[in-house]
Amino acid sequence: LALPSVAGRWRGYDDQLEQQLQRRTGMRNALRTAVENGELKLAYQPKIDLQSNRICGVEALLRWESPEYGRVSPAEFIPLAEASGDIVPIGGWVVQEAVAALVRWRTQGQVGDAFSVAVNVAPLQLAQPNFSNWLMDSVSAAGLPSTCLEIEVTESGLMQDMELALKQLQSLSDEGFKVAIDDFGTGYSSLAYLKKLPVSILKIDRAFIRELETSEQDQKLTETVIAMASHFGFSTVAEGVEDNAQLVLLRAMGCDQVQGFYFAPPLKESALLNMLSAL
Ligand code: C2E
Ligand code: MG
Ligand code: MG
Ligand code: MG
Repeated sequence: LALPSVAGRWRGYDDQLEQQLQRRTGMRNALRTAVENGELKLAYQPKIDLQSNRICGVEALLRWESPEYGRVSPAEFIPLAEASGDIVPIGGWVVQEAVAALVRWRTQGQVGDAFSVAVNVAPLQLAQPNFSNWLMDSVSAAGLPSTCLEIEVTESGLMQDMELALKQLQSLSDEGFKVAIDDFGTGYSSLAYLKKLPVSILKIDRAFIRELETSEQDQKLTETVIAMASHFGFSTVAEGVEDNAQLVLLRAMGCDQVQGFYFAPPLKESALLNMLSAL
């Protein structure tokens, strides 16, 4: 998209804004061909089960290495892909890639049957009418049970269209997929609404974990979320765990799983496999 006249007018008083706009427009175009050009990769961040103290699965996180823009953070490019609609084919690629990786690891004996892979799903992807069928086809074609794929949807994403989200999540859970609410605590969901959702996992946002050791308020909040989650039959994952003090607190609170730099950052496949075989 070219913006000649508008851009020309802006240059006079706001060069930075124009540059930002150009960067976004340029990235949005570059993203359109990122899949076919092989610029996308997945990184895998281990999740640790606090009962067994073992890696029970990974979260697949998208990485984009653009020839033009270098490494771009998903925080920057995912919103662009959501706005253009390209998140649908890109997210499709993520699922295919994650499924293929899990098949490799299972076949080579690097992970067991209970090992799961979590993928992040954008609201627009979830809204596709055939989403759960398509997902089911993807795992069955690979010979995997639906139970080894976790779908992460953000709390704010769900609230964009609650009714549709509810229906889609119901189909996913009927098909046997595990559904997680990501970044939990950052939206405005009430307990009443939570109870209605066919989800099985709550991922507590990093914002509550960051100052867990020093903030009494964050401790109370996190403790309450974990207690409430277990009351409703959800399991809990704390994200962004960076030190042992946080781990000790979360364990005492009864958190089920943890994920964060304290254990491992998102890893490329070879590093993940090294870590799995070293344990
Ligand atoms: P998220 O799903 O909440 O993923 C967790 C983010 O926290 C990741 O950032 C991860 O690298 C980071 N993280 C993990 N542990 C720690 C820690 O201990 N400390 C700190 N400071 N950060 C930690 P990343 O990879 O940059 O992804 C950012 C967001 O982009 C994700 O948040 C997710 O919402 C989105 N995203 C990533 N991949 C995909 C994808 O394939 N599809 C969609 N729709 N969104 C994606
Ligand atoms: Mg996530
Ligand atoms: Mg998250
Ligand atoms: Mg988060």
